[in-house]
Amino acid sequence: MNTPEKLSRKFKDENYYSNSNKYFLLPFRFLRINQDHELLANDIGDFVIAPVGTVNKIVSKTFSKYDNSELYYDLISNFIISENQVPDLLPILEARYRTKKSFLDTFTSLHIFVITLRCEHSCHYCQVSRVTENRDAFDMSFSDIDEGIKIMMQSPNPEITMEFQGGEALLAFDKIQYAVNRAITAAQVFNKNISFVICTNLAPINDEILDFIDENNILVSTSLDGPDFIHNKNRRRPGNNSYEITIDGINKCRNKLGHDRVSALMTTSTFSLQHPEEIIDEYLKQGFGNIFLRPISPYGFAKYNPKKNHYFVEEFLEFYKKGLAYILDLNKKGHSIVEDYASIILKKIFMPFPIGYVDLQSPAGLINSVIVFNYDGNIYATDEARMLAENNDFTFKLGKLGINSYNEIFYGDTALAISDVFTNESLAGCSDCAFQTYCGADPVLNHATQGDMYGFRPTNIFCKKNKEIIRHLFELMIEDKNNERIFKSWITGYTL
Ligand code: SF4
Repeated sequence: MNTPEKLSRKFKDENYYSNSNKYFLLPFRFLRINQDHELLANDIGDFVIAPVGTVNKIVSKTFSKYDNSELYYDLISNFIISENQVPDLLPILEARYRTKKSFLDTFTSLHIFVITLRCEHSCHYCQVSRVTENRDAFDMSFSDIDEGIKIMMQSPNPEITMEFQGGEALLAFDKIQYAVNRAITAAQVFNKNISFVICTNLAPINDEILDFIDENNILVSTSLDGPDFIHNKNRRRPGNNSYEITIDGINKCRNKLGHDRVSALMTTSTFSLQHPEEIIDEYLKQGFGNIFLRPISPYGFAKYNPKKNHYFVEEFLEFYKKGLAYILDLNKKGHSIVEDYASIILKKIFMPFPIGYVDLQSPAGLINSVIVFNYDGNIYATDEARMLAENNDFTFKLGKLGINSYNEIFYGDTALAISDVFTNESLAGCSDCAFQTYCGADPVLNHATQGDMYGFRPTNIFCKKNKEIIRHLFELMIEDKNNERIFKSWITGYTL
């Protein structure tokens, strides 16, 4: 019987490191996916799923191409090992790394204008404090709109998105009209392609608003939490008819603008956790081809209503996996419906391009891809950062409209302090995580939940959620090739 080699931290002799098996290790990270399989992944997200023990063998150079030639050439072609000390295809690897990070070439695209804080809903998980009156105090002023557009036009990015949020954005429709008209004129002067999004609960929608949205090619993003018994319980308003109003608004938008110009997002409350299938069925019933199973954000009002809004990340993961299994099952029965979060991660796994989803980027999406101009003129790094500010936490305030210059906002002390911790390649825990390329960094969430921007990965909810969802996606693909085919159809748009 062979006695196992004694483990030691000492360097072994020179022969041990010689290239006896004729391959060299390239930088890669690894993680066990399930009892039988481990994942080896490199810096550009190329990966190999291999039997447990493969990492040990290739690192100790006891793996040879004669053991398993198919796996050996998989490892070579995915830049995990190389037959030459410097791989012949190194320039390809470099070009692909630059492509993965090319979202940095153009800088901030998404500019969120919180046009009003007023709202006529009182959703119990609402992330901002709501006010029902006093337009002047809680709507963005015309001069701040002008200043915001000035800053937006200084972005080096030729593709700009201007997104209106609230409160309920359409309660300040006059301000939206003003802002869109001014931004279109400015975009012509500064040679930008500009697109517009209005986030709305659709309660104030009317023909005048629809005409304006249509004329200016504006996208509408609304909220749909599920069927009436879930939606109306989550999203309170006088008359308890938010669901009916939302569905009516969706239909009006589709009739006027076209089916695909209105999208919907759901938020998972504690009550929703019990009903993944009903929520997904509602999206199918309303003719949506996709659904984003989103957890509640631990910001603002959400955290003050623990009974309705507090659940552990493990409970969300159970809900998410149940929902994803149901969606896969529907796909296998011929229904075409995509889960958006899985689809974003799968694009990061399989595609060479950056995917432009700000919550899963490294360097993080905040500042690099998104900036928020609040109704009161304050400027924040993300939407979540302004929610913290509503609770008097101004850690992520970057400046004020009309006072600070572009450079002071985007390259000032606060932006620089955030930049120290917004790259997961340099964060403890992430730096050696096999999922690093598929994941991102979220200093705002770290600060909100753990008290510092750096965060502590072993107890971090961003990490727990993403690590388990990514692992689960790989596991689903290992278990059933049909799952992989469905996932690939989601990201390529080809139907099965
Ligand atoms: S947050 Fe967690 S899952 Fe994501 S890269 Fe860091 S360690 Fe990995």
